[in-house]
Amino acid sequence: MPIRLRQAKKGIEPPVAREVRALPIQGSGMKSRQTDALDRKMMTRCISLSVRSGGEGEYPYGVLIRRADQVVTESTNRVAHEHDVTRHAEMVAISQAQKALGVTSLDDCMIYVNAEPCASCAYAIRESRIARVVYGLRSPYMGGVSKWNVLADTDLSNTMPEVFAPPPEIIAGFMSHEAEQALLKWNPLVWRVVKRRGLFVAGRAEAVRGSNAGRRWKRMQRLMAFLRRTVFDRFGRS
Ligand SMILES: [Zn+2]
Repeated sequence: MPIRLRQAKKGIEPPVAREVRALPIQGSGMKSRQTDALDRKMMTRCISLSVRSGGEGEYPYGVLIRRADQVVTESTNRVAHEHDVTRHAEMVAISQAQKALGVTSLDDCMIYVNAEPCASCAYAIRESRIARVVYGLRSPYMGGVSKWNVLADTDLSNTMPEVFAPPPEIIAGFMSHEAEQALLKWNPLVWRVVKRRGLFVAGRAEAVRGSNAGRRWKRMQRLMAFLRRTVFDRFGRS
């Protein structure tokens, strides 16, 4: 069912309607079962990291980045420890992954988060070109999909294809009930307040996609990915 994202109340209307679609997660074959098992393993680790983050006096976020079946890095929030609001778990993990792999572009990586990345982390995900994003709880007031459509926005990639890849594959609400239960157990009082205010929401898992499609478009995207890596990234990124 199409979801019309909330438009800005002031200012100029965007040139393209910002519409993303929430779709049921497809597939029941061997590959999808393996993917699902791996996703569950990664998200279980993220949920455990989120509880640790909360226990260390940070907001309860846990993040993991993987490439193929290898975990590249993982992180909790580091804002309180480092007195730095840019040290969200996703930002820390992206930075660590880029250093560990010695690359700026993470277009062969996936990121897992126990809750929907905020708008600034969603932008970092787009700029680092992470190809797949899996998150648990939805974030209706801060989220880079639910509130501001940064993660699935096609204007970025259509306008600057030499820098931005098309929106990543997005799985929203993955193991969100498990993510919620872990935080409820970690701090029942805090979690009840958070839930009452609707800051995070558990629900069923859905794939979220931008509006682009088609074989010709995919061929063009493969060419652009090659050009980004071999030509365009020489300017300002490597
Ligand atoms: Zn963030």
